[in-house]
Amino acid sequence: MSHCFYPLVNVVKNYAWGSRSALNARFHIPNPDNQPQAELWMGVHPAGISQIICEEGSCSLAELIAGDKTAMLGSRVAGQFGDLPYLLKILAAERALSIQVHPQKAQAQAGFHRQQNNPPDYNDDNHKPELVYAITPFMAMNGFRQPAEIVRNFKKLGIASLEATLNPLALHPCTETMQAFFVSLMQLPQDEKQKAFTRLFDEVESLYDANLASFIFRLRQHYPDDIGLFAPLFLNCLTLQPGEAMFLSPGTLHAYVQGVAVEVMASSDNVLRAGLTDKNINLAELVACTVFEPISEEQLRMAPAKHAGWQQYDVPVEDFCFDVYSHVNNLAMQTTSAEIVFVIDGQAALHHASGEVLTLNAGQAAFIPALTRDWTLSVSGALCRVYV
Ligand SMILES: [Zn+2]
Repeated sequence: MSHCFYPLVNVVKNYAWGSRSALNARFHIPNPDNQPQAELWMGVHPAGISQIICEEGSCSLAELIAGDKTAMLGSRVAGQFGDLPYLLKILAAERALSIQVHPQKAQAQAGFHRQQNNPPDYNDDNHKPELVYAITPFMAMNGFRQPAEIVRNFKKLGIASLEATLNPLALHPCTETMQAFFVSLMQLPQDEKQKAFTRLFDEVESLYDANLASFIFRLRQHYPDDIGLFAPLFLNCLTLQPGEAMFLSPGTLHAYVQGVAVEVMASSDNVLRAGLTDKNINLAELVACTVFEPISEEQLRMAPAKHAGWQQYDVPVEDFCFDVYSHVNNLAMQTTSAEIVFVIDGQAALHHASGEVLTLNAGQAAFIPALTRDWTLSVSGALCRVYV
């Protein structure tokens, strides 16, 4: 028997950078062993498939969808994607995640099929555009700064072996000179790296603005010896306030530094790393997947369309849409694809004309199949909704 609303039981990822308290305190997600709780996954990616619960028992969301793709996904999404095309996560970062880039779809397909090496660089054949919506103030480094800023920031450190690529970047700012500079930085000899770190830590407050310095201090706490400590000098450093969002296209170098956020992405786990990590850095793959163009903070931030009781974020990819509802009462909703809703704050009630009702508290999520069609939503706090 099919239902209109399926409560989800989701996978928690205990990555080392995760907070031991944030998901438990905010969303009552049990943490009996005091583990770092980095991510909560909602979706059907093989690395963390949600379970659904109903009176008949429980099964995986992937099985539910596979059982009747047209009813669950809707014929449009079933035809275009064949499965749930997005992955919804809650991130709780106590310390920085690795500096990373996600491949374009063609690069992921080629890389996933080509690779034989171990550990692999590609986990699947999909791209991974991502949207981040801040629940708490959320520190992130995203996208290359303007070349002139990068040159200014690095010149202050006087690193001799970077001169050969900094000067061309200053004179001829373009993707080639940006890439050459980045590669020379990633290959900085150990002794010069150490000297530059010493200078950076001694003088960070006099060399740079307070915001940039605060990112370096934060990173230094956990990665005192990592090439990623230079990242604030060449990446934009921004702090999203609760309710603010940003979007990252594949190819954008980024690192999330601290805070709790909703993250929505195409259903993929492809990550190429560039620092702030103990994991393998494959410089050639990383460079091949990185877009060496500056992007401004204004371009990264999303300006939602505001409606009465809800906000709609204009996502420039087809894999997912993202809305946030707050303080609404019996709002008419229409579902035409596979949706996941997650309660950020307060309580939500989902009603269907058939009489089916589901109440969700903060931290709880539900899957809504395409066949549910018309329903109504009441939210005492805030709820996010992901659909296609
Ligand atoms: Zn990412």
